[in-house]
Amino acid sequence: MSHTPGPWGYSAIPWEEGFGASFGHDGKLVAFVYGHESSDEITLLFQDVPETDEEARANFALLKAAPDLLEACRVLVSERDADVKCPVCMEDSGCLLDCPVQLARVAIAKAEGRS
Ligand SMILES: [Zn+2]
Repeated sequence: MSHTPGPWGYSAIPWEEGFGASFGHDGKLVAFVYGHESSDEITLLFQDVPETDEEARANFALLKAAPDLLEACRVLVSERDADVKCPVCMEDSGCLLDCPVQLARVAIAKAEGRS
């Protein structure tokens, strides 16, 4: 089961009340999120939908797992002290940019809206 490949772009949607956004890739809608109050004035950047139910189900599974993946990244990073040699990339202080621990830090910042 393969999800729609990333990176997923997004488009914030004008919303009278709350927040709305669509996520997708290559013009294909992956997900739509909103705060409350539906509107007829939605303009979707991503007009197409996944070509197969299998792809849509894979996208659903990936989105459903997002909170668990975030928590796993937080646990991974919290177990690393920046002043101690990283057991993954073996750097004495800090990590290499492509170290999985560093990639987890970047993913957490993205998930928390800090990047
Ligand atoms: Zn590292």
